[in-house]
Amino acid sequence: MNISEILHHFAEPREIWEGAVTPPLQATSNFCFDTVDDMRNQLANEMSYPFYTRGYNPTVGVLREKLAALEGTEDALVFGSGSAAVAMAVMQVVKGGDHIVSVKKPYSWTTKLFDNYLSKYGVSTTYVDGTDAKNFERAIQPNTKLIYLESPNSMTFEMQDLEAVAKIAKAHGIVTACDNTYATPLFQQPHKLGIDLVIHSGTKYLNGHSDVVSGVVCGSKDMIQAMMKEEFMTLGGIIAPFNAWLMLRGLRTFEIRVQRSDASGRIVAKFLENHPKVKEVLYPFASSNPQRSLAEKQMSGAGGLMSIKLNTDDPKKAEAFSNALKYFLIAASWGGYESLQYPISAMLNSQNYNPSSLPEHLVRIYVGLEDPQMLIEDLSQALALL
Ligand SMILES: *Cc1c(COP(=O)(O)O)cnc(C)c1O
Repeated sequence: MNISEILHHFAEPREIWEGAVTPPLQATSNFCFDTVDDMRNQLANEMSYPFYTRGYNPTVGVLREKLAALEGTEDALVFGSGSAAVAMAVMQVVKGGDHIVSVKKPYSWTTKLFDNYLSKYGVSTTYVDGTDAKNFERAIQPNTKLIYLESPNSMTFEMQDLEAVAKIAKAHGIVTACDNTYATPLFQQPHKLGIDLVIHSGTKYLNGHSDVVSGVVCGSKDMIQAMMKEEFMTLGGIIAPFNAWLMLRGLRTFEIRVQRSDASGRIVAKFLENHPKVKEVLYPFASSNPQRSLAEKQMSGAGGLMSIKLNTDDPKKAEAFSNALKYFLIAASWGGYESLQYPISAMLNSQNYNPSSLPEHLVRIYVGLEDPQMLIEDLSQALALL
């Protein structure tokens, strides 16, 4: 199915919506029945038909079908946050005594899930340098049940060869999961490269308007059904129907938004790469990136997220650069319409900060939907302060 079909028409039975062109928002927790027999029949299918919104809600159902189609999987589940999606996908695969091989430096709260949370239940994790697929194979133990990937990660953008890692995992009977938030299904489809579970923070590009926190897991019917029966219904971290409806609205422009961010991102990255006050640009398609050929092999674009190392050792000057930017709002997250910056020096007092993986002079830049020339002028005047 092509992406226009998925984003604008697929899974929208307008004839039963009395011709409504947008999906009705079914803001209801509950569904009622005419007879006991009707209720009994529906309860037998409470995860696929309206019974109670923790299990199934028709507005969320439309979103699930579209997201699964975008990733090319049989089914998908939507959660109240990306972190809930990561946690429930991982918890579906491992139990006490099992072992995870994870790429090093995944999303900060994913690291916490492995190190501080699952460790309480006897699940251990080994982190490997994912730039060489063989490192995953070397770390496999008899009890390894999951290989966890995030390609690229969202701060320094190291990539893993998804096809190669999926092959290794299959040969050992190990499940693979990949956080695909950075590339989005527009630019990378891990399932088509052999990855079992594809995870997203829907908060970023999928919703794209900085007004919803959500998460997604895509996978086979069997794996999603198992996750639904166990983690999803039990832990209950669902998305509200209104937020699902906003995500459906956000998805209408998903393709053009992410294309715009990618096109502008490449222009801004080139400008920064050529600027004497910038030491290095971390970006999958940066000309200095040693993994650039892997990016070209498995990704058709990168979007607008990149990091820069400023050409200064003076933290005061780095801070002055950030404070001088007018259009790059100082904030977390990314993937919305607005350009953003995340100065790593702002993390110095945070328990999440790990100086060995994130140098203090790094500033993460998100190029949003504004005119790239306007953004370049803004960066120019701020870089002149260094
Ligand atoms: C934001 C993010 C998450 C967490 O998602 P939330 O929606 O904030 O819970 C997970 N992985 C990556 C790569 C992210 O950028």
